[in-house]
Amino acid sequence: MPSQNPVFIPGPTNIPDTLRRAIDYPSVDHRSPEFVEMLAPVLAGVKRILKTTAGEAVVFPSTGTGAWEAAISNTLSPGDKVLAAEYGMFSHRWIDLCRKHGLDVEVIDTPWGEGAPLEAYERALRADTGHTIKAVLACQNETATGVLSDIAGLRKAIDNAGHPALLFVDGVSSIASMDFRMDEWGVDIAITGSQKGFMLPPGLAILGISPRALDAMKAAKLPRCFFDIPDMLAKNRTGGYPYTPPVALIRGLEVAIGMLEDEGLDQVFARHHRIAEGVRRAVAGWGLDLCAARPSLYSNTVSTVRVPDGFDGNEFVALAASKYAVAFGTGLGKVAGKVFRIGHLGSMTDVMALSGIATAEMVMADLGYPVELGSGLRAAQEYYRTSAGKSAPAVERHAA
Ligand SMILES: *Cc1c(COP(=O)(O)O)cnc(C)c1O
Repeated sequence: MPSQNPVFIPGPTNIPDTLRRAIDYPSVDHRSPEFVEMLAPVLAGVKRILKTTAGEAVVFPSTGTGAWEAAISNTLSPGDKVLAAEYGMFSHRWIDLCRKHGLDVEVIDTPWGEGAPLEAYERALRADTGHTIKAVLACQNETATGVLSDIAGLRKAIDNAGHPALLFVDGVSSIASMDFRMDEWGVDIAITGSQKGFMLPPGLAILGISPRALDAMKAAKLPRCFFDIPDMLAKNRTGGYPYTPPVALIRGLEVAIGMLEDEGLDQVFARHHRIAEGVRRAVAGWGLDLCAARPSLYSNTVSTVRVPDGFDGNEFVALAASKYAVAFGTGLGKVAGKVFRIGHLGSMTDVMALSGIATAEMVMADLGYPVELGSGLRAAQEYYRTSAGKSAPAVERHAA
């Protein structure tokens, strides 16, 4: 049963009222001028959020997983080699999807809690003197472990190796919440979805495509149909879609981008940092550790908290839901049961975060964790008291 409580899962995130109203939208004829007028500013807005002027923006009716598939199926051929590191469930799933498409994935096994291993990427690229690696894959924010990776550094590693591979970045749980610069970082395909930083329901796969990636599409031989990017771009140029577009969500995306830009992207990033820092202080106040190996890897969108030995993170999540009607994230894959996750991205304020911290404390007390009620809350309160006002919470905006 839905409640008025915020969710603390790292997607789907809380949907602001403004966006709920914006997507309450009547049917329009998607071949009419009305849709043509609606689409162009949305694609322009996506490009601003991704920080690309050289690239193109594409929006499919799908989710982040569909964007992974679109990225590879449009640019690669069966048997092509790609280089990827596995450091959490999302990087793992993308690798799995590549293999199912018949790609040859060179995997850099990386401990969960670490980020994209820049030196290992560089070493693998230097060793590939024949340039058989066609694409380098990385997850900017590993949502399973709460780890942020250095994409500018990855670009540097590729350049240091003098390697021509394309760079594909999964920014599903980072774009529109943490710094992302598609052109400056030389990202060839940027991937995100509607249900995280964009604060909308799931349903849109959002991609940025560089001119080099577009060029690679001419020779790519993996089967593609629904996710055919050149087809989509050709139809978009006249304002249409190759099939029925998800009009209400596209309308919502325009309003979401407006909200982000009204607040200011830098302020949005600062707000995420501040909220996340309060959560991290709470975790320290509890005497618990994060899954992320060190502070330079801390994610501002999700905190993955290690539970003490002898406790089960899944029980924490189940009790929070059944007793307090609050959703936290479970541990995924290798860290299932060993962690719980606090999602703090999208439409989130410090006051909302405090309610999540307070709930987490009640759940831990109920389950007999060696954690004192108020210990994390107090640490977060002290931090928010001294930092409040420097970044306003997401501004509500009236749907035009
Ligand atoms: C949520 C997420 C995805 C995509 O998941 P979907 O459920 O297909 O939208 C991919 N990568 C990361 C890092 C994510 O957080």
